[in-house]
Amino acid sequence: MKDHKSNIVEVAVPLPLDTTFHYRVPETLVNEVEPGKRVFVPFGRRKLTAYVLAWADAPTGDLKDVIEVLDSEPLFTAEELSFFRWAAGYYLHPLGEVIKAALPAGINIETRRRVVANEDGSVASEEQLKGGKPVRTEAFYRILPPPANPPRLRGKALNILEFLRTVGDAPRVLISRNFGDSSQQLKKLAGLGLIAEERREVYRDPFREEVFQQDSPLVLNESQSFSFTRIAQALDDGKFSPFLLHGVTGSGKTEVYLHIISRCLALGKTALVLVPEIALTPQLVRRFKSRFRCGIAVLHSGLSPGERYDEWRRIRRGEVCIVIGARSAIFAPLEKIGVIVVDEEHEASYKQTEGFTYNARDLALVRGKMGNSVVVLGSATPLITTYYAAMEGRLEYLELPERVRNLPLPDAEIIDGRARKSETFLPQLVTALTDNLARGGQSLLFLNRRGFATFVICRDCGHVFRCPNCSVTLTYHRLRQRHFCHYCDFSLPAPSVCPGCSSTEIGLLGRGTERVEEEVKIVLPDARVARMDSDTTSGKGGHARILKKLEDGNIDILIGTQMIAKGHDYPGVTLVGVISADTALNLPDFRSAERTFQMVSQVTGRAGRGDAPGIVLIQSLSPDHYALVRAADHDFAGFYADEIEFRREAGYPPFTCLATVNFSGTSAESVEKNAEDAARHLRRLRQQLNTRTEVLGPAPALLAKVRGRYRRQILLKSPTRRELNRFLSSFRMEFKPPAVVRMNIDVDPVDML
Ligand code: ADP
Ligand code: ZN
Ligand code: ZN
Repeated sequence: MKDHKSNIVEVAVPLPLDTTFHYRVPETLVNEVEPGKRVFVPFGRRKLTAYVLAWADAPTGDLKDVIEVLDSEPLFTAEELSFFRWAAGYYLHPLGEVIKAALPAGINIETRRRVVANEDGSVASEEQLKGGKPVRTEAFYRILPPPANPPRLRGKALNILEFLRTVGDAPRVLISRNFGDSSQQLKKLAGLGLIAEERREVYRDPFREEVFQQDSPLVLNESQSFSFTRIAQALDDGKFSPFLLHGVTGSGKTEVYLHIISRCLALGKTALVLVPEIALTPQLVRRFKSRFRCGIAVLHSGLSPGERYDEWRRIRRGEVCIVIGARSAIFAPLEKIGVIVVDEEHEASYKQTEGFTYNARDLALVRGKMGNSVVVLGSATPLITTYYAAMEGRLEYLELPERVRNLPLPDAEIIDGRARKSETFLPQLVTALTDNLARGGQSLLFLNRRGFATFVICRDCGHVFRCPNCSVTLTYHRLRQRHFCHYCDFSLPAPSVCPGCSSTEIGLLGRGTERVEEEVKIVLPDARVARMDSDTTSGKGGHARILKKLEDGNIDILIGTQMIAKGHDYPGVTLVGVISADTALNLPDFRSAERTFQMVSQVTGRAGRGDAPGIVLIQSLSPDHYALVRAADHDFAGFYADEIEFRREAGYPPFTCLATVNFSGTSAESVEKNAEDAARHLRRLRQQLNTRTEVLGPAPALLAKVRGRYRRQILLKSPTRRELNRFLSSFRMEFKPPAVVRMNIDVDPVDML
């Protein structure tokens, strides 16, 4: 292993610094140091944990010594390091922070190595001290060869001994589950030399106690079979091949993934499955665990740091062949990956929104390319950019056009709300709710999560104010009586009459779930109404509790935000109402049409999944908007054709590459000044580099203040990735904001609010 020429290592530190550092390895540690391990090093006036990247040639100058080595085994491989380096370069984020984000939290606690004695006198293992989270051990009892003169035993002690004889060994918990409190008997048996007690490391597997029924693969239908064959071919070839698997919910995508994974395991390779956090339900995990007998690791935010660390170590040690996880699982230390699945690839939750703002969906393609894996992006409503890539031939397009059980998609109808401006429920919706209740059907009423009323709309004609440069809706600032663009610095005085129809009925829009609940209760006093939003679901299991009530038929009408639209099947739901499609449609975001199309399609998929056909009613002040019309017609291709034209004309992805430079701080003044300085610097640099990248802003972020911090953003729009990256790298080297202002670069921003 020690093929190094020098005794110098290059390390990265988990700080916002671009450079790597060199340290000398003292003779005593030279056999312990390895790339991929953490070391403890002096850094300025303090000491911190650093990641060893490589042995280095001797640089000039004085070097400090590594103080100690913190790991007995490397935490990342050379291959993973290249992946981290790629991500650091692409997202313009310091390598040390990338590595820190990629490793599980439990491991990052900066512990110092010490050997200590446990209470029982034994010496704690190295790892117990090094990882932030102690390894969990459990008492096990093992049968020993019987002595020449076996002692006579009776009762519980004898039963336990015989039990252990048949099973060989068992953890204490299992023995006490069978025989009740057995500590006396176990002590006795051990004293007689019949059994031995030992402590073994166990993993905190949340599914450990569950027994899974084996299930067998289903016979694929024609389109599933076609898709499977194409992907399997690529898998056998062992080359990087990206696919888009396009099919509505219930079209059998997951079954295709399972077949592919089975093939992949047979080839001796592993599988990485990414799902949005919200879809990572026990049902999904059960489906995998029932199908495959091999080790499966599950990574999601509900795990305790200890559980997460355990899952991570199982993967690192090669004990699992399938990893299922949310966003951060893209960094799972899985080797020999044959296939990476990204389910619901359009989900915004694949994007990390703070700090190292990576997108797991995009990184899946990069990791797949580096590891010669097949990558399958699955969705009912692929991103416009993904579909475009497929049309361009950069992804192979596969379609599952029908639902497996041939259930028809429910009819969706758009209700024009313009003539009845102030009513929450239009008559059609009230009638539908009443009828559905009378028939014993359940209804979902859906509100957009982002219901904040920041844009102004004409309630008579549906006119909204848009930025002439950026085509996004303008944001209304009450204090300044103006409409602002939060992409560029365009603004407009707030008019009191609508420029479209001269109406004076211009106002803010948006209703909270609470108000909708009150109104439902007035209209339908007999209905059992429940609300699902961040208020009612706080606390662990809050979500599941409400969904269980719905499933058990104890709720007639459920009002909720995005969360009710995702993941689950509710066969009893036969009516879905969208209270106002306008909040989504008019968000000041260039993706608002795409988001609305996805949302309406998803909501539509919730109705009538049982035997009864479902109805979907969508209330809107823009009933002719293509996103709504196409979604109601279940016409993805039509929507794509409209939306790609908009993107081309307005200059948004896939025709440009975007990045934002974000500033935040507790002083509005210094945030503003710094953003101005940065913009000036960027514009100067733009001339110097002669880049075609546009610099827009600074503009106040839509949510100008979040958690007490003021925010400003600059938007960069570039015709090529290369130019954008070069431009931003130079900027980052040159421009250093003062300590009171935080600057964060977001490449490929998803949420620019
Ligand atoms: P998706 O992932 O697209 O939502 P699933 O794979 O979950 O679709 O399939 C939807 C339902 O249809 C599941 O209950 C699944 O068991 C069933 N299913 C999928 N493929 C088949 C098949 N070839 N034959 C019979 N049932 C199938
Ligand atoms: Zn108007
Ligand atoms: Zn603008």
